[in-house]
Amino acid sequence: MAGRNFLFVPGPTNVPERVQRAMVVSMEDHRSSKFPDLTKSVLEDLKAVFKTTTGTPIIFPATGTGGWEAALTNTLSPGDLVLASRFGQFSHLWIDMITRLGFQVETVECEWGEGVPVEKYAEILSKDKGHKIKAVIATHNETATGVTSDIAGVRKALDDAKHPALLLVDAVSSLGSIDFRMDEWGVDICVSGSQKGLMLPAGLGIVCASEKALKARESSTAPRCFFDFGDMIKANATGYFPYTPALPMLYGLRESLTMIKEEGLENIFWRHTYLASGVRAAVLDGWKLGLCAKEPKWYSDTVSAIVVPEGINGAHVIDVAFRRYNLSLGAGLSKVAGKVFRIGHLGDLNELMVLGALAGAEMSMLDVGIKIEPGSGVAAAQKYFRTHDNVPKKKVARSEVVYASQSMGSTEGAH
Ligand code: PLP
Repeated sequence: MAGRNFLFVPGPTNVPERVQRAMVVSMEDHRSSKFPDLTKSVLEDLKAVFKTTTGTPIIFPATGTGGWEAALTNTLSPGDLVLASRFGQFSHLWIDMITRLGFQVETVECEWGEGVPVEKYAEILSKDKGHKIKAVIATHNETATGVTSDIAGVRKALDDAKHPALLLVDAVSSLGSIDFRMDEWGVDICVSGSQKGLMLPAGLGIVCASEKALKARESSTAPRCFFDFGDMIKANATGYFPYTPALPMLYGLRESLTMIKEEGLENIFWRHTYLASGVRAAVLDGWKLGLCAKEPKWYSDTVSAIVVPEGINGAHVIDVAFRRYNLSLGAGLSKVAGKVFRIGHLGDLNELMVLGALAGAEMSMLDVGIKIEPGSGVAAAQKYFRTHDNVPKKKVARSEVVYASQSMGSTEGAH
């Protein structure tokens, strides 16, 4: 098919040409005396992305799933109890891993479209006087439903209950795109991956561990080898890895971290909120459809899951978009399969790219019989972009921006 593919799945995201070029390298000796320059610089610059000064970033040749496993096996012992909540496919898969690895889990079941139930966590933690719960897990951004959760709220629930459990957070589809504050929120392990906000191919499981998490590792007896933080930290201290590192990925990461520094993290967060607001304007004000996210407070700035009308299969929209218009949209997963399609709006992205995806989604929806006004989504997003700043003039709270798309027209009954 002529022309380029429009990649709008919520990861892998578009890899900028600069990053692609940086990855075209000859293989080299990863034990040379020069190699530590690369290791040390990427590990140091990752700290700013995690917003930590005391945490330790760790890079595994893996994916986010490997990061989940590393977080659990480096801090817990067999049979330990974890508090979790399930509200989408990714929060579900982490819970599934907890049980498969031999830990126990107390799961709060939530509606898909909601996020971490902070009040419920607070209640459970305050009742756990014997501190049986050893870790609390939270999915910062549920990619399956387009929901962002309040991690600061989870921290507060732990603090209010004076509970010592570790806070383990999945930031796979938020790190580098939605504000994440490791130190301020007292996160003990943050799990992420290379193929989303960091604008790289999949292949690196990138985590960051707090001092408290590293201390917990000393008494944790869960079996671990490949994902052992200790081996990694010992080797990283001298600028090396305990096994052969994924060289091109590390060079790509070096370049993406440079790009992030150049644009500025806060500007990147703004851009994501701004572009997401344009997408939400298209969905709610233009197409008059609903989002899977139940309330504006859950709206994700990296992915929107759009609910298709009764009688329409969301998978059909995605297939037409791909085959006819060379547009890749995200599928509905598990419980919401067929009920939603997703637009990923994260990473290396601007207004016209988003408008292209919206135009393609619009044509595909019309093709499969969804009764939307032709051009309405694109027009609503254009209007949003033309009337809002694409860079922050002053620091604005996220909530102010998220709600902005609603001021453009009635969204009553949109959910
Ligand atoms: N967590 C979230 C929120 C995700 O979106 C994903 C993947 O999309 C994962 C975890 C799993 O990451 P990976 O596919 O890199 O193993």
